Amino acid sequence: MEGLAMGQAFNPPLRYHIIPLYDLREHDPSPECWCHPTPDEEHDYYRHHALDGREAYETGERKPN
Ligand SMILES: [Zn+2]
Repeated sequence: MEGLAMGQAFNPPLRYHIIPLYDLREHDPSPECWCHPTPDEEHDYYRHHALDGREAYETGERKPN
Protein backbone atom coordinates (compact mmCIF):
# COMPACT_ATOMS: atom_id res chain seq x y z
CA MET A 1 0.00 0.00 0.00
CA GLU A 2 1.30 3.44 -0.86
CA GLY A 3 0.56 7.05 -0.13
CA LEU A 4 0.13 6.72 3.61
CA ALA A 5 -0.51 10.07 5.21
CA MET A 6 1.60 11.34 8.06
CA GLY A 7 0.09 12.33 11.36
CA GLN A 8 -3.18 10.73 12.39
CA ALA A 9 -2.18 7.37 11.10
CA PHE A 10 -3.59 4.04 10.15
CA ASN A 11 -0.87 1.51 9.58
CA PRO A 12 -2.12 -1.77 8.07
CA PRO A 13 -1.91 -4.50 9.11
CA LEU A 14 -0.99 -2.94 12.42
CA ARG A 15 -3.30 -1.15 14.79
CA TYR A 16 -4.69 2.32 14.89
CA HIS A 17 -2.51 4.91 16.51
CA ILE A 18 -4.17 7.68 18.45
CA ILE A 19 -1.64 10.47 18.10
CA PRO A 20 -1.99 13.91 19.68
CA LEU A 21 -2.00 16.47 16.90
CA TYR A 22 0.47 19.36 16.96
CA ASP A 23 2.39 17.92 19.86
CA LEU A 24 5.66 19.50 20.91
CA ARG A 25 7.48 16.58 19.36
CA GLU A 26 6.55 14.60 16.27
CA HIS A 27 5.22 11.09 16.83
CA ASP A 28 6.06 7.96 14.96
CA PRO A 29 2.97 5.85 14.18
CA SER A 30 4.62 2.74 15.55
CA PRO A 31 4.82 0.89 18.86
CA GLU A 32 8.45 2.04 19.08
CA CYS A 33 7.56 5.72 19.30
CA TRP A 34 9.51 7.82 21.81
CA CYS A 35 6.40 8.28 23.95
CA HIS A 36 6.00 4.53 24.56
CA PRO A 37 2.41 4.27 23.31
CA THR A 38 0.01 2.25 25.39
CA PRO A 39 -1.57 -0.72 23.60
CA ASP A 40 -5.31 -0.99 24.18
CA GLU A 41 -6.18 -4.64 23.69
CA GLU A 42 -9.89 -4.07 24.06
CA HIS A 43 -10.22 -1.50 21.32
CA ASP A 44 -7.20 -2.58 19.31
CA TYR A 45 -5.22 0.64 19.10
CA TYR A 46 -2.11 2.32 20.45
CA ARG A 47 -2.61 5.43 22.47
CA HIS A 48 0.25 7.88 22.23
CA HIS A 49 1.15 10.26 24.99
CA ALA A 50 1.39 13.99 24.43
CA LEU A 51 4.32 15.83 25.95
CA ASP A 52 1.92 18.24 27.64
CA GLY A 53 -0.24 15.43 28.99
CA ARG A 54 -3.41 16.46 27.19
CA GLU A 55 -4.13 12.96 25.88
CA ALA A 56 -6.03 12.40 29.10
CA TYR A 57 -8.66 14.85 27.89
CA GLU A 58 -9.23 12.96 24.68
CA THR A 59 -9.94 9.69 26.44
CA GLY A 60 -12.26 11.26 28.99
CA GLU A 61 -10.13 10.17 31.92
CA ARG A 62 -9.75 13.77 32.98
CA LYS A 63 -12.08 16.67 32.39
CA PRO A 64 -10.98 20.24 31.73
CA ASN A 65 -12.14 22.75 34.26
ZN1 LIG B 1 4.02 8.68 20.21
